[in-house]
Amino acid sequence: MGFRDCDFVINFSQFADTFQEQPRAENKKILNHSKQAGSMQNRKNASEMTDTTAAKMVVTPWEVEGIIDYEKLIKEFGMQSIAEILDEIPNPNWLMRRGIVFGHRDYQRIVEAMKEKKPWAVMSGFMPSGLPHFGHKMTMDEIVWHQHMGGKAFVGIADMEAYVVRGFSWEKAKEIGMEYVKSIIALGLKEDAIIYFQSASQVVKDLAFELAAEVNFSELKAIYGFMPETNLAKMFVTSIQAADILHPQLKEFGGPKPVVVPVGADQDPHLRLTRDLASRISIFSFERINEGLRIRSRKGAEYLHSLAGELEFDKIVYEEHIDVFGNPQEIEEKTREVELSLGGKALIPPSSTYHRFISGLTGGKMSSSKPESFVSLMDSPEVAVKKIMRAVTGGRATAEEQRKLGGEPEKCAVFEFYNFHLVKDDKELSEIESECRGGRILCGACKKRAAEMLERFLKEHQERMEEAESRLDLYHIII
Ligand code: SF4
Repeated sequence: MGFRDCDFVINFSQFADTFQEQPRAENKKILNHSKQAGSMQNRKNASEMTDTTAAKMVVTPWEVEGIIDYEKLIKEFGMQSIAEILDEIPNPNWLMRRGIVFGHRDYQRIVEAMKEKKPWAVMSGFMPSGLPHFGHKMTMDEIVWHQHMGGKAFVGIADMEAYVVRGFSWEKAKEIGMEYVKSIIALGLKEDAIIYFQSASQVVKDLAFELAAEVNFSELKAIYGFMPETNLAKMFVTSIQAADILHPQLKEFGGPKPVVVPVGADQDPHLRLTRDLASRISIFSFERINEGLRIRSRKGAEYLHSLAGELEFDKIVYEEHIDVFGNPQEIEEKTREVELSLGGKALIPPSSTYHRFISGLTGGKMSSSKPESFVSLMDSPEVAVKKIMRAVTGGRATAEEQRKLGGEPEKCAVFEFYNFHLVKDDKELSEIESECRGGRILCGACKKRAAEMLERFLKEHQERMEEAESRLDLYHIII
């Protein structure tokens, strides 16, 4: 098995990154980097950085290597930049404002639904392969923020993936999974969320079966690097993942609606497949044309005839498609209504946001095999403090040099912790950055301040987790 050691690309990727069987080189998306990126993974003092890793960037569902140039990633993957729509997002959160959430696909649908107060949802999942850590916290924060902005929250605990990928027993996956549930509740998840374990959701499993009928081995091989010896359960779990994302749109949960999935950038190929599956499993698909939409039916021409009779727009009906003229959103909405009346699912391709990869405290990537490279949400505050005090920084070789030249926060694991987790106030963060760059603080004192913040956060978080345990019966948990 050629598993990626770093399983800190949170949520779904944790299954994908451990999941593939030695991908062939031609399946990799290899991008040459051309300029400095804003990630801690640029850190030159990371001992493992070599000429080879510096010369290329590899981002796939099973591997993230090299210096990550997020602008280039946006272009190569065909994502959109979150910065371009930041002004349209009501009260963007700190992750968006700071470009930690840097890209998106179709997030305008969510923004419109927020503004028009139409139903929409946020969905993400966690494989309980180890205790929750700050990488997971980032996705949890994103789910909670979207829920507080009016989205219906769906939280999947990927116990089927833990069973297949890690060989965990159902009991162990459930036990660890509940720590994720308590953690996200402690971070502010409200009671109207739907929390489920994959193995307990018949709806997800049924939808996964239908989706599996739309995918073949070649496609899975190209996306996940599967080989002929890959077992069937691993392949099927990819459909479970897609069903996780699409099931909030089933009639049991109120029908079609925009759904946003916050993920790491390496999960974009999976999101693209799921978006495509949303169309494949629905009756009608859409294509933009001048002044309207071209609508096709994947299930037969008779559906097109039924649709044509219901659409009160200017249109030209062809044998294989209908060209409909007018407001695309209105045409799409009416078509979905008709599809539902015809017994279809009318799924909307899911939207997604992409966040940056979190770096390891010890330099290079976080790794589950190196506990000192990350902080778990369950670490005792004392242990966490030790980890942050030993973290790699962007400090200079001597105190004198640092006072003169200032530190380099963009190369500092401690600053990344401030930026991603500890300081939500932009002014306060900017003050810390300016102290560092101006050489007005040395790394020892700066780390101590971060350690105190971290200690306080963990104490409170762990108390809230205990409290969450006593309130679990107020939540809808499918287990
Ligand atoms: S002063 Fe703080 S932010 Fe700057 S390099 Fe040192 S530890 Fe990092």
